[in-house]
Amino acid sequence: MAITSQSFGKSPKGEEVTLFTITNKNNVKATVMDFGAILVNLYVPDKNGEAKDLVLGFDNVEGYFKNSGYFGSTIGRNSNRIENSQIEINGIVYNLDKNEGENNLHAGFNGYNLRMWTAKVKEEENAVEFSLMSPDLDQGFPGNFNVSVTYTLTDDNEIKIHYEGVSDKDTVANLTNHSYFNLSGHNSGSMKEHVLWLKASNYTPVVAGGIPTGEIAPVKGTPMDFTTAKAIGKDIEADFEQLKLTSGYDHNYVIDREDDKVILVATVEDAKSGRKMEVYTDCVGIQFYAGNFINTDGEVCKEGTVYNRRDALALETQFFPNSANEKNFPSCILKAGEKYDTTTIYKFMW
Ligand code: BGC
Repeated sequence: MAITSQSFGKSPKGEEVTLFTITNKNNVKATVMDFGAILVNLYVPDKNGEAKDLVLGFDNVEGYFKNSGYFGSTIGRNSNRIENSQIEINGIVYNLDKNEGENNLHAGFNGYNLRMWTAKVKEEENAVEFSLMSPDLDQGFPGNFNVSVTYTLTDDNEIKIHYEGVSDKDTVANLTNHSYFNLSGHNSGSMKEHVLWLKASNYTPVVAGGIPTGEIAPVKGTPMDFTTAKAIGKDIEADFEQLKLTSGYDHNYVIDREDDKVILVATVEDAKSGRKMEVYTDCVGIQFYAGNFINTDGEVCKEGTVYNRRDALALETQFFPNSANEKNFPSCILKAGEKYDTTTIYKFMW
């Protein structure tokens, strides 16, 4: 167990960016950086003991200045979409950036993934904590919001991501991590043979543009069903309206849960490498995004790779999309003075 740090260049404002490398006793290695509180690399051994980097990203910090796919990013103050880029809290209307047509995606043009966070190395816990002060009306949201995200690497091969935050006004608090995984390695081509299981009997159907209709629909009998594990590619091209609307899976799944504890909500298996990933969370929703629009700009990414659509998948734990407006969904409003506290774990086996 050890944490080392090195320079990763400078932010657009000229601040020093530091890359922190966390290792465990099983040769798992994660690197995270203070620019964007981003997970940059995640090396995990395969069945032959060969470690590969499983997450999409860039070799240098400049790649993360645009990062239109949000590779590895901490998303905040709100993840996913808000209809018409508007919310109302306590009778006051707040306008947000329209960065996806009329809607707001991942909190707009100035996401938390583009900020410098303050890092604190926690050697004894094999963790790095990043904290950020997001001022009142930042991105349009009310309240001074003090937020932190802590990445811990355990000897059980878990990347544990813990978020905490407090605001002085009622606000939206709905962060997530937007890592894209390919269990064969970030540059291994399509992940369509990965086998996915989701602890979700329901999902939230959307209209064109990805805003939920407000309905909570059963997956049973549809291509959306992952309650029995199946290859992601099996039904992805099915003639099913919800899949056509989003060009493949890009939906919020409603986690089957009895309480708000951290539970196993998803597994991903890759027979080729022998790697398996488990996702645990206390969140109510998980956005399964099949990477349908990965790297539409044709950018050259890590190790000279040009990623293609469906080269990796994201499993983003969060409140349901547009839950700031949709009364039918669990609320993502954090009351002034109360604590936002949520944990998601990505655990690896091989
Ligand atoms: C959304 C996708 C979007 C991607 C990158 C995901 O969270 O569900 O629709 O393309 O983020 O912005």
